[in-house]
Amino acid sequence: MAGRGVEHVHGRAAGGFELTLANGQTSICDRLLLATGGCRAAMLGRFAVSLGHTLEPPVPSLFTFHLDPPALSRLAGLSVETVEAAVPGTRLRAQGSLLVTHWGLSGPVILRLSAWGARALHGVDYRFPLQVNWLPLLGADAITRQLKLRCRDQAARLVINAPLAPLPARLWEHLVLAAGISRDTRWAALSRPARQSLARQLTHTELAVTGKSLNKDEFVTCGGVKLTEVDFKTMESKLRPGLYLAGELLDIDGITGGFNFQAAWTTGWLAGKAMAG
Ligand SMILES: Cc1cc2nc3c(=O)[nH]c(=O)nc-3n(C[C@H](O)[C@H](O)[C@H](O)COP(=O)(O)OP(=O)(O)OC[C@H]3O[C@@H](n4cnc5c(N)ncnc54)[C@H](O)[C@@H]3O)c2cc1C
Repeated sequence: MAGRGVEHVHGRAAGGFELTLANGQTSICDRLLLATGGCRAAMLGRFAVSLGHTLEPPVPSLFTFHLDPPALSRLAGLSVETVEAAVPGTRLRAQGSLLVTHWGLSGPVILRLSAWGARALHGVDYRFPLQVNWLPLLGADAITRQLKLRCRDQAARLVINAPLAPLPARLWEHLVLAAGISRDTRWAALSRPARQSLARQLTHTELAVTGKSLNKDEFVTCGGVKLTEVDFKTMESKLRPGLYLAGELLDIDGITGGFNFQAAWTTGWLAGKAMAG
């Protein structure tokens, strides 16, 4: 409502809270629920801080990756049902569908990695190597077997025209060329090193991530009010009686699939029930 935004929250010495609204009016209450959303900018958590709480530093979560040069940009719009993406040298690894965009990579597998790695990836300024296995459900041995079978059974066919299922033809073409195999190579002429190079492209494509999506595309904030400062049975502050905290303001962030909504609804419900009790 216009003019009803809260400008200041003041904890009263006698207990309770005084709110100053944008229209200059003040309002007094015994119990107060802060559910102001993610602290995308630290000032959005200012009420909790002014009442004595500490914020885990906010960093973005659920973002897409930029590739520079956009190695796969010619494939923009292409999606693959199940890939495995990993950040070498870390434990960050996720499986799911992947979407190639004009600027890089998106889709559930990327959003999941961005959520689990929100803090670590922020720590390297969103510049890191990414390894993609395009056929994680097949496994390296099965891939080698299938490639050898093609050399035997489809000797006269062009390699570039015979994708391993379920890879889209455009992606297969890209991977064959990236493996250093020319367009006119037939399976019969595929050398052992070339076959191994193709198998490596299929399971270990190395990409360089150089950034993330812009602020407006980030969905969720990792960070917020420290969980150790809140009683999870009631969502009441452990530092200030009568103050309750819920939703994304807290240091809770989940992967896509409704987990953030669920966290907001559950903590809001717990707080509301306790406040009414
Ligand atoms: C584009 C987008 C897509 C998303 N998709 C999903 C999804 O698919 N699944 C999922 O689980 N999550 C998703 N999220 C995240 C999800 O929306 C949030 O985690 C959730 O809404 C948090 O709820 P909340 O009530 O804590 O905060 P919010 O929904 O952000 O609500 C906070 C409210 O507080 C108000 N407020 C803030 N400051 C003041 C003030 N000073 N005075 C008065 N009012 C104030 C705000 O106006 C706002 O209405 C998405 C987020 C975005 C941005």
